[in-house]
Amino acid sequence: DTFEDLNIHDPLLSHLPNKMSITKPTSIQKLVIPHLTSLSNDNDLFIHAQTGSGKTLAYLLPVISTILNMNTRVDRKSGTFALIIAPTRELASQIYDVACTLTNCCHFLVPCLLIGGERKKSEKARLRKGCNLIIGTPGRVLDHLQHTQVVTEQFSTSLRYVILDEGDKLMELGFEETLRQIFEIIHNIPIETKVFPKLPARIIHVLCSATLQGNV
Ligand code: AMP
Repeated sequence: DTFEDLNIHDPLLSHLPNKMSITKPTSIQKLVIPHLTSLSNDNDLFIHAQTGSGKTLAYLLPVISTILNMNTRVDRKSGTFALIIAPTRELASQIYDVACTLTNCCHFLVPCLLIGGERKKSEKARLRKGCNLIIGTPGRVLDHLQHTQVVTEQFSTSLRYVILDEGDKLMELGFEETLRQIFEIIHNIPIETKVFPKLPARIIHVLCSATLQGNV
């Protein structure tokens, strides 16, 4: 019942109690982390969890940990290995803040926030420099996929995890068509296995939702 038992990478382990005052995994983390750290299990995953259950760390910890456990040299130029889409700027920013805190222990990993607003130019500049985790809202993610070529280039070398957070809210807010377009682009990018040869050669989709109903 500890994060050690869940195969979390060492530098992250000391980070949790020291920087985040987190000592024990929540029940959703105990269920989800082994699934996402096991490289032999490349099934998609549905996480039925409310906000407050610890779902953000349940997917961020294993995804970052898996990359760190590879023992391959990784930096911001290694490509984007995870795309996380959230329904609102607020939620995307919260997830980004958690990703920044986690990657404090490994500065070579760079997260990037893509949300609506005035920041498109600086988002583009950051994307051009390279980033390993992209967290964003649907419209802005699609916008960059269509107009910032470097995004698809970085996806093709590394993208392995696509996570939809608050899937029920994404549907409620009418993002179904935007998401369909995002997936159409992503699924047409050929996956290269050069950078992460040990990772399954497919994208693992993770859907978080507080409700089970609806056509999420
Ligand atoms: P979330 O459900 O991801 O929105 O997380 C809700 C809150 O729970 C956040 O403030 C987290 O920092 C906190 N949290 C996440 N995991 C744990 C844990 N294992 N122990 C204590 N608090 C946690």
